[in-house]
Amino acid sequence: MLTASTHNNNIQNLHTHTKYCDGADTPEEVVLYAIKKGISSIGFSGHSYMSYSKTFGPLGDHTEEYKNDVLMLKEKYKDRMKIYLGLEVDMFSRPDMQDYDYLIGSVHYLKIGEEYVCFDTDASGVNSVIQKHFNGNGMEYAKEYYRTLAQLPEFGSFDIIGHFDIITKHSDRKSFFDTTSKEYLNAAFEAVAALKGKIPFFELNTGAIARGYRKDPYPSTDIIKELKRQGFGVVITSDCHNKTMIDYKFDDASELLKACGFKEKYYITENGFTAVPIW
Ligand SMILES: [Zn+2]
Ligand SMILES: [Zn+2]
Repeated sequence: MLTASTHNNNIQNLHTHTKYCDGADTPEEVVLYAIKKGISSIGFSGHSYMSYSKTFGPLGDHTEEYKNDVLMLKEKYKDRMKIYLGLEVDMFSRPDMQDYDYLIGSVHYLKIGEEYVCFDTDASGVNSVIQKHFNGNGMEYAKEYYRTLAQLPEFGSFDIIGHFDIITKHSDRKSFFDTTSKEYLNAAFEAVAALKGKIPFFELNTGAIARGYRKDPYPSTDIIKELKRQGFGVVITSDCHNKTMIDYKFDDASELLKACGFKEKYYITENGFTAVPIW
């Protein structure tokens, strides 16, 4: 199944959202679109239910419906596409993690005292978080994020680290901290060291480009190189919230990975994660 010869068979996005969380399409709409594009496998990664989320909390937990829908589609389209059931677990949400083909571990909240503080928001929201909780000090905010990310393995057996430096979401337009400084990179590299040997893969995530926040994917080149030095494998994802973005800038992502020294990326197969060459 990995000797696919056509280009699109080399595409597998494991970070895909649907209407069950904050995506635009139903899982079946995504599947049909991907089949039409000649893509032969896909993984869905709905958000785990976050009771503390102001957006998702009040909507209730729809995880079972999401799971059942994806499992139904897996069977329905089995002759045309391999479909994998994943979950993007927000670190603090502690969902049931049985029955998934793979798990992405992500940090979207900081826990400050007893409060869950969302920072995956617009720039003015981030600014408020920094003013309210970090005395206006953006670097302390970034450091707290990486200290939180470093704890991921204590919350589950994750396969993929989600959007490693999502804390830089707005850094193209608004500088809350200096992402080239030693202080910042040391904090990020300490998280790399803490996750080493505990979570095998990180994602090269083009989602913020697709949604117009950034011109480069997560993580930054400096961090990709450090993850490479420390032996992490990589998957390419688009953090897809709209089916038309299913393989957004995957070619550019491959080029970037090659420039950072990667010769292979990983796919999930029926036998688990498998390395394939990046060309
Ligand atoms: Zn996420
Ligand atoms: Zn996501």
